[in-house]
Amino acid sequence: MGQINATTCQDCGHHFELSLGGGFLAQVVFCEECGRGEAVFHGGKLLGERDDEPGWSGRCPRCHGRLSLRARARCPRCRSTRLDVDEEPTVLWD
Ligand SMILES: [Zn+2]
Ligand SMILES: [Zn+2]
Repeated sequence: MGQINATTCQDCGHHFELSLGGGFLAQVVFCEECGRGEAVFHGGKLLGERDDEPGWSGRCPRCHGRLSLRARARCPRCRSTRLDVDEEPTVLWD
């Protein structure tokens, strides 16, 4: 199941909502360049479950960086990876 959590950047104080996890049809992956999170539709098969998979799936629509399962979420304002993520999700989705 995917979720959306209220998040605060530790470096610039920016508040934003971060999508995490994955559901039955889509999974959130992050851009290696700008940290943008994109829900990638995988048709019911979770990405990255096999070691021989490349671990990335497509291009970021904003900067054309790689969307990677190994990329970390970043602040959309300053690109910091030091984020305070609320433990309680504000939205859950399938
Ligand atoms: Zn920031
Ligand atoms: Zn990007």
